[in-house]
Amino acid sequence: MVIRVFVPCIVVAMLFSSSVHADKLWLHCGGLVDVDAGVTGEAATIVVEEDRIAAIHAGHRPPDDDEELIDLSGLTCLPGLMDMHTHLSSEFSPEAYVQRFTWNEADIALRGSHFARITLAAGFTTVRDLGDQFNVSVALRESIARGEVIGPRIFTSAKSLATTGGHADPTNSWRRDLMGDPGPRDGVINSADEARKAVRQRYKDGADLIKITATGGVLSVAASGQNPQFTDEELAAVVAIASDYGMHVAAHAHGLEGMKRAIRAGVHSIEHGTYMDDEAIALMIEHRTWYVPTISAGQFVYEKSKIDGYFPPIVRAKAAEIGPLIQATFGRAHAAGVPIAFGTDCGVCPHGSNAGEFALMVEAGMSPAEALRTATVNSAELLGVSDSLGRIEVGYLADIIAVEGDPLEDVAVLGSVPFVMRDGQVYFAPD
Ligand SMILES: [Zn+2]
Repeated sequence: MVIRVFVPCIVVAMLFSSSVHADKLWLHCGGLVDVDAGVTGEAATIVVEEDRIAAIHAGHRPPDDDEELIDLSGLTCLPGLMDMHTHLSSEFSPEAYVQRFTWNEADIALRGSHFARITLAAGFTTVRDLGDQFNVSVALRESIARGEVIGPRIFTSAKSLATTGGHADPTNSWRRDLMGDPGPRDGVINSADEARKAVRQRYKDGADLIKITATGGVLSVAASGQNPQFTDEELAAVVAIASDYGMHVAAHAHGLEGMKRAIRAGVHSIEHGTYMDDEAIALMIEHRTWYVPTISAGQFVYEKSKIDGYFPPIVRAKAAEIGPLIQATFGRAHAAGVPIAFGTDCGVCPHGSNAGEFALMVEAGMSPAEALRTATVNSAELLGVSDSLGRIEVGYLADIIAVEGDPLEDVAVLGSVPFVMRDGQVYFAPD
């Protein structure tokens, strides 16, 4: 299915690339979603000039002389979607553990460019990348910004920070002579001083933000998916130095103790949040900590845990236990009023399946309008870019997608996105 979509789409990108930036581009939308109001309005015309939205008119206005019109009158337009938890340079499979020893940096980078294109084609025009190898996501961000690779706008943490043996220690389960002793440069810290050095190294590497693995995780070959893995001193050092460099901190957390330490230390977002209790919920509301649920990844690992041999035994047990809990946690957090931004952890779940998260959110009690806000205005707020992304509004960056039907009636229509514009550039359009 992916290939069938891509061949004409690449041609479309090439056709428009010469004209889009020279002139205004007029879009005739069959409907236009106001994500703030949670209402799908009538037919509208959006005028795009260079990378910005220049005007929005009710009804279908003809373009001025020589200006280009794209007819989306059979589709509903909405802001480009935003996924706050992806790993664009990897995708999990049973071979992933062996590929750490057989793949070179170039293999990972090229595969990342493939996943970036799939993600944009799925209607996601902005992502946070929360953990890579070899700073591939930094190179990908720059290559996409230069227009060489087709993909979403990326805000990246580059390599995640862990403690020795922690979830993002890159040498977990390796033979001792290969294991070595990774340190701050490799994203492994064991003191406040090393935490400071690791954060500064990420800054030097070109990261936009910091990701820490505050507790154990599912896919690392290690016993616990829940234990706290940073001390209060280490967390305080990470948050303080990140703040000095204008970076926020995203904290992977399943277990409660590590999650609460991270929230109290002032991290910006909790990822997964599996064992969140009422006290953690209250702390998140008090600290205005974002929750990025990643229900999709929980469902994915739970389904795969039923297959003999898919995971190593130590991982299978964690996947079966942790995976199915996230959706219920999300439901409780949402009902209590925790600020929520959209995130899938794709790279665990397959890239391009990102929009499947909407149905899982609605199933757990969120309205379609609220779910759509998590992937637009809320994600923009998390990133601190509310004045330029997340809405279709005059002066905003022209990140616009269009789908068949009304996503506020049925979020499933977001699973197929025939039209994708990012920064005023058309990348995918209907035949
Ligand atoms: Zn992740």
